[in-house]
Amino acid sequence: MGEDKGICRGLCKDHKVRKPRDGTSRYVSGQVRCQICGVFIAREACHDKEDRPARDETVDLYCNCCNCMVRSRPRNKPGTKHSKKSQQEEYNELRKKY
Ligand SMILES: [Zn+2]
Ligand SMILES: [Zn+2]
Repeated sequence: MGEDKGICRGLCKDHKVRKPRDGTSRYVSGQVRCQICGVFIAREACHDKEDRPARDETVDLYCNCCNCMVRSRPRNKPGTKHSKKSQQEEYNELRKKY
């Protein structure tokens, strides 16, 4: 276990990515979310369980910055109908973000 686990060391900002312009999902575009660092980063900024660079088929990704596991898939499958938020709430959230 590394000493730096769970701490953002600021390395992620070099790999921070923007939302794809064409509207495709970040996850589809190979971007992952690091909850510790609070940013979306490219897969290239991650490593796998064995500390090797992440590849396309790598499922378990760890942030190079904080060494924590990052999410490479959306939590909900696309098309899930059980949304806790109303459309109005989602609309409001979108407005806050952009
Ligand atoms: Zn970080
Ligand atoms: Zn991180």
